[in-house]
Amino acid sequence: MRIALIAPPWPIFNRPSIQVAALAAYIRKRLPQVECRCFYPYLSLYEKIGAQLYGIISDSSWASEAIGAMLLTPGYEDQQAELAIRMIKDGDAKKRLNRDTILEVRDSLQSVLGELLGSLDWSGYDFVGITVSLNQLCSGLYLAKEIKHLSPSTKIVMGGASVSGTAGEAILNTFPFIDFVVSGEGEGALYSLIHSYLEAKPIDETFIRAEELKDMDSLPPPDFSDFFEELQRLPPEKRFIPVLPVEFSRGCFWGRCTFCNLNLQWKGYRSKSSNRMAREVLWLSRRYGVLDFAFMDNALPPKEMSEFFREIRERGVDLKFFGELRASISRELAQELGASGLKTVQVGIESLSPTLLRRLRKGRSVMDNIATMRHLLEAGISLEGNLILDFPGSSEKEVEETMEALRFARYFKPLKAVSFWLGLGSPVFSRSDEFQIRYMRPHRNYKTLFPEHSPSETMVYEYGGTLKRDRALWKRVRREIGEWHRYWNEHARHIPPLTYRDGGDFVLIRQVLDKGTVLQHRLQGLSRKIFLEMLEPIEIKAIMERNPGVSSESLHSFLEDLHVKGLIFKEGVKVLALPVRNRKI
Ligand code: SF4
Repeated sequence: MRIALIAPPWPIFNRPSIQVAALAAYIRKRLPQVECRCFYPYLSLYEKIGAQLYGIISDSSWASEAIGAMLLTPGYEDQQAELAIRMIKDGDAKKRLNRDTILEVRDSLQSVLGELLGSLDWSGYDFVGITVSLNQLCSGLYLAKEIKHLSPSTKIVMGGASVSGTAGEAILNTFPFIDFVVSGEGEGALYSLIHSYLEAKPIDETFIRAEELKDMDSLPPPDFSDFFEELQRLPPEKRFIPVLPVEFSRGCFWGRCTFCNLNLQWKGYRSKSSNRMAREVLWLSRRYGVLDFAFMDNALPPKEMSEFFREIRERGVDLKFFGELRASISRELAQELGASGLKTVQVGIESLSPTLLRRLRKGRSVMDNIATMRHLLEAGISLEGNLILDFPGSSEKEVEETMEALRFARYFKPLKAVSFWLGLGSPVFSRSDEFQIRYMRPHRNYKTLFPEHSPSETMVYEYGGTLKRDRALWKRVRREIGEWHRYWNEHARHIPPLTYRDGGDFVLIRQVLDKGTVLQHRLQGLSRKIFLEMLEPIEIKAIMERNPGVSSESLHSFLEDLHVKGLIFKEGVKVLALPVRNRKI
């Protein structure tokens, strides 16, 4: 028996697909009699159109899907090219691209997928599994359609985030060339399908809600060998050393954010043990000669993560990691993580308004968010975080609170402004009334992707209610975030704009103001001591207890002075000193 696993365009090109590599490892281990081949046609597409253009397109899901849709449903190129250009995020690239350049990209995609389709006798494959996560749906559907056409007896199985939940069922019902859709994690489902087939048992279910694996330590490490073989076939000047995706956990231990629809894909939260994770990463590093890893987790498991990074640090190897964290990092932990190779993190900041954070059900305060931003900057860890704007039913109060907090957040790496989008199955979707949403329907862009047969349920919805008002309210925050980026680009390229150096019995604080004016502040003796105590969020009451000789009045006026100058952040009864230590100036 023979199966093929395919990761279609357009994921980030310098990473193998974790889905394909994990499935291949699982099937090869549990069903060694089955020949399993993996294909990563996006590597050839990157080779054909170049890293820059590939990156510009894969940075936008709608653009990636629109170009894939041109192959799936030919004859609607004008609308699809227009959608692709409109959705490209890079402003300069948007100006350069036109219908003809998009059609050239479409031709390159067609030629790359055509090469894959023509290179194999598909009738020799009993199953073809196609993973369709971010950006991959339309290219994946096109491959499915063509393979079915070439070999009607081959069973087509689709899985991945884009076909989770009822959206997956709708895809299955819309496209007759798909035999099975797996919603959720694929290992157990694919194994059962193949096993039943080998035993000649009938398979009744075509939409399979996968059972979740309980013990992640029992999984074999992902098998990236096919990716490296394809990489080797590229011309030498196009080869690169990839970033390897790895999984520490699946699901989310919080799982309550109202805007999030990841629950469609995952239910329970499970993680590998720290020791197992460390062994896996070190083994993958040696096996493939790679030093860069990206954790695919929704949020790294807090306890195991600290132990894992400690183990990596003790090995003394120069590994680098990307991972996603919840905003609850202490100063000490940030330093440890930074020293262990965690170089870039995505943190679910989402908001700097306490009122909105409550509505988002983030379970974090503005103080948690600002402290995390501070500690990461100090530890040399690059933060990628978003601020959600235009959330349904926004209030003037939420905007005011955000504007106030931005005065202090500006000293840390700027966040990206993102508009709220309505995802199928998110709490906002399920309890739309609570968020003043009057109607919801599949996003209109799907009609452009699937002009002939649009699935009845889709992953992204458009909605009506307070949208117009929400957008108008958040306009000034959007502008302010633009200013924040400008300020950072102009004044913080080399040194963060708010830093301190400790002189033993005094500290010197360097503060760069809006227009680039530099202020120096000196805090002596007791003022220095209190300042250092505030490098983690601390209650004012606790400062009083630690410094019994200081009167409440003088402490409050000292704190007020620092607050007015933008040197400390206050929330409720807590304060936090914002300057980050800089020993390099
Ligand atoms: S946004 Fe992140 S933390 Fe919140 S529920 Fe989703 S995965 Fe979990």
